[in-house]
Amino acid sequence: MKVLKFGGTSVANAANIKKVMAIVNANAGDRVVVIVSALGGITDLLITAATLSETGDEKYNAAIEEIRYRHISTVKEIVPADRQTDVIDMVNGACKEIGEICRGIFLLKELSPRTKDRVMSYGEMLSSRVIHAAFGKENIEWADSRKLIVTDDHYGMAAVNFETTNKNISEYFALSKDDIFILPGFIASDRNNVTTTLGRGGSDYTAAIFAAATNASALEIWTDVSGMMTADPRAVTTAMRLPEISYREAMELSHFGAKVIYPPTVQPVMNKNIPILVKNTFAPEDEGTLIKNEPAPSNNIVRGISGINKLVLMSLEGSGMVGIPGFSKRLFEALASASVNVILITQASSEHSISVCVEAEQAARAQHAVDTAFQFEIRSGSIEPLRTEYDLSIVAIVGDNMKNHTGVSGKMFGALGRNGVNIRAIAQGSSERNISAVIRTEDVIKATNILHEEFFESGYKQVNIFIAGLGNVGKKLTDQLHNQKQFLRDHLRLQLRITGMANSRKMIFNEEGIDLSEATALLKVGADMDLGEFSNEIQKKNLRNTVFVDVTANDDVADIYSELLQKSISVVACNKAAASSTYENYKKLKTNAHEFNSLFLFETNVGAGLPVIGTLNDLIRSGDKINKIEAVLSGTLNFVFNNYDGTKSFATIVKQAQDEGYTEPDPRLDLSGKDVMRKIMILAREAGEQIETEDISINSFMPASCMNGSVEDFYHAMEKEEAHFKKLYADASAAGKKLKFIASYSAEGANGFHASVGLQQVDPKSDFYHLYGKDNAVLFYTDRYPENPLVIKGAGAGAEVTASGVFADIIRAATI
Ligand code: ADP
Ligand code: ASP
Ligand code: MG
Repeated sequence: MKVLKFGGTSVANAANIKKVMAIVNANAGDRVVVIVSALGGITDLLITAATLSETGDEKYNAAIEEIRYRHISTVKEIVPADRQTDVIDMVNGACKEIGEICRGIFLLKELSPRTKDRVMSYGEMLSSRVIHAAFGKENIEWADSRKLIVTDDHYGMAAVNFETTNKNISEYFALSKDDIFILPGFIASDRNNVTTTLGRGGSDYTAAIFAAATNASALEIWTDVSGMMTADPRAVTTAMRLPEISYREAMELSHFGAKVIYPPTVQPVMNKNIPILVKNTFAPEDEGTLIKNEPAPSNNIVRGISGINKLVLMSLEGSGMVGIPGFSKRLFEALASASVNVILITQASSEHSISVCVEAEQAARAQHAVDTAFQFEIRSGSIEPLRTEYDLSIVAIVGDNMKNHTGVSGKMFGALGRNGVNIRAIAQGSSERNISAVIRTEDVIKATNILHEEFFESGYKQVNIFIAGLGNVGKKLTDQLHNQKQFLRDHLRLQLRITGMANSRKMIFNEEGIDLSEATALLKVGADMDLGEFSNEIQKKNLRNTVFVDVTANDDVADIYSELLQKSISVVACNKAAASSTYENYKKLKTNAHEFNSLFLFETNVGAGLPVIGTLNDLIRSGDKINKIEAVLSGTLNFVFNNYDGTKSFATIVKQAQDEGYTEPDPRLDLSGKDVMRKIMILAREAGEQIETEDISINSFMPASCMNGSVEDFYHAMEKEEAHFKKLYADASAAGKKLKFIASYSAEGANGFHASVGLQQVDPKSDFYHLYGKDNAVLFYTDRYPENPLVIKGAGAGAEVTASGVFADIIRAATI
C-alpha cells in the first residue's frame, strides 16, 4: 500500500488533473490511496464566501458562482461524457448547499468556527468526487474521510483521535477489494459526526494519517516544486533541492515556515519509519526529496532556512521576577488557557525578562490573558505590563549537523549584522537543530537570502551597487565594472550588480541589475532625479551587501552618507565633500561606519587611484606614527607646471589639463590650491589629527583677478595675467629650479601641528624635482621611516585611474 497526496495546484484544473491521473495510473499494480486537496484557490474562495456572508455582503453569491464555474468547467473537460450529468448535478447540489449555509450566516451575521469548517469542507469533497469521476473506472473507490478520521471538536484545527481513526481505517481497507482509493484531504468529523478540519494545509496530514494507519510502504506528497528546498524558492531564487533529509529536519523546517509540508504531517509516519517522498506533479521525473530516519550525510552544516511571518513578540519584564520560581509557569499557563500557541521563547539568564513570540492574530488574546494573570504584580509595580512588538518574523536555520559544529550561530548573526538586520530575540533549542532569530518582517527576504548565501553559496556573493554620477569617472567606472564582471565571478566569486544609477537629471533602478551597455539610454527615460528619493529607494530595497558609490563632486550627495552608513550600507566616495567637510561631520561618518558595520571608503580623494590612504591606514594600524607628510597632490598643477615654459600661454596649458580630464569640473579649485588643501587635510585627519581648513596656511600664486566670475572669465583673466606666470617660471629656471605646488603637514608645530600648501621652487635634489606629467608623490615620514620617507608616486589624476581606485574600494567594501 502506498499513499499519494496531491496538493491544490496539482489539481487546480483539468490539465493538471490529467497529470495526476497519469501518476496514479503509473502506480497501478500496488494498492494506492490518493488524498486530494481542494482545487487550488477554492478553500480561500469558500472562506471569502463565508466571511462576506458574515458581514452582510451579498457578494458571497458571486464567490459561490465562481466555485461552481471552476468545478463545472473542469468536469466538462475530464469526466467521461456518460458520467458528466451526474457529476454536474452533484456540483450544483453542493453549491446550492453552500449557498444555503451562507444565507444562514448572512441572516445571523455570525460565523462560528464550526460553520466555517463545514463551509471549507466542500472544497475537498468536490475535488475528490470530480477526480474520482474523471478516472471513470469501476474498480476505483471514493470514500469520505470524515467517516474514517475522528477528531475532537476543536474546529479549525481539530486533534485526531488516533485510536478510533486507526481502527476505522484498517477495518475499511481490510473489507474493501479495490486497488485505487480517492479520498478528500483536510476534513474529518468529531464524535457527533459534525465536520471538522485539520488546519490549513491539512491534506498532507490526512495523507500521513492514512499512511501510518495502513502501514504503507511510502507516503508521497505531490506538489508544485521538485522537493524540499534549502529555502522557499519564491524568496531565494538560488534555492537548491535537498535530496534527503531526516524526519526531524523536515519537522523543524516545516514548523518554521517551509510550507511545502504541513508540520504535523511528519509525526505519524516517523513513528512507523515510513519514508516520505516529496515530488513535483509537473516534473514527475525529478527525483524530489526523500525524508527518512537516517538520510545520506551532507557536507552542509545547515540543511535549510525558513521563516514565519505575522508574529508578535511579547515581553514580560520586571525586577519582581528575579529569582522567584513559578513565573514562567504562570505565564505559560495564562497563554495556554487562552489557547495561544507559543512559537518561540527566550529568557535572559538574569531572569529579568521572558519573551515569547505568538501569531499576530492571537496577540490581543495573549495580552489580555497575561495582563489579567499578573494584574496584582503589575499594579504593585514589581513587573511591567506586557510589552508587545508588532510586524515581526522569524528566520531559522535548521540542520541535524549543526550540533557538531561550533561557530554556526556566530556565522549566522555575523552575516545578518553586517547587513544591518536588527535582531530582536534569539532562540536555540537544546537539540541544536534549529537557531531562530526574531527580526522585522520587512527584513525577511533579505535575511533569508543573506543566510542562504552564507551557508549554501560559499561559491558566490552578490553585491548590489548604487551609483550616483555618470560623468567622466562614472562612465569609466561602469565600463570597468562591465568588463571585469566575468573575472570577478571567476576569481573573486563576486557577482556585482548595478541595482540603481543616477546622474544629476535622471535615476533608474533594477533589482536584476542594470544592463551597463545600455545604461546611458536607460537613464534618458528614467524617473527625474531626486536625491531624497534615491536614498530612500536604496534603503527601501533593503538588499544585502549594498554599496553606494558617489562619483559626483556634489556636496548634497555627501549629505546622504550618514543615513546609508547607519543602515549598514557601505559608502565609496570619490567625491571629497564629506571627508573634507567639518571635522565633526567627518568623524560622525567614521563613527557611523564603525557602529553599523559598514565601510566609508574614499581612497580616490587623494592621489586618484594611488594607494595613499590605504597605505597610511596600514601604517597606523600596524602601530607606526605619522610625523610628517610632504606631497605633490595636484595632478593638474603638476601637469600645468611641467608643461608651462612660456612658449604657450599659461591659460592654454590649463585648458589642455581640463580637456584631458585632470582638473576638477571648475579648474579654479585646483589652481587656487583649495583642492590640495582638502587633500592634505584628509591625510592629516586619517593620520589622527583634528584639523579644519582654517588650520592650513596657503600661499597662492594666482592673481586675485583670475578668481572671479565664470570659468570663461577665468580663462580670459589668466590670459591678461600672462606676464605674472612668465615671471614665476623665469625666476625659477634662472635659479636652476622647478615649480611645484607642495602640501605639507607636520605633527609638530605651532598649533600642535602645522599644515600648509603653496608654490615652491625645488632644486634637483628634491624628491619632487623629477615628477613628470600629471604625477603625484606623497612622502610619509614616520617612526619607521624617519630619514628616508615612504614614497608613493604615480599618475594622480585622470578618469581612468580614478575609476580604478573607486573600483578597488568597491571590491574592498564587497569583501568585508
Ligand atoms: P500544495 O498545494 O501542493 O500543498 P503548498 O503551496 O502548500 O503546496 O506548498 C508548496 C509551496 O511551498 C511551494 O510552491 C513553495 O513556494 C513553498 N515553500 C516554502 N518553503 C519551501 C521549501 N523550503 N522548499 C520547497 N518549497 C517551499
Ligand atoms: N485545501 C486546504 C487548504 O487550502 C487543505 C490543503 O490544501 O492541504 O488549506
Ligand atoms: Mg500544502
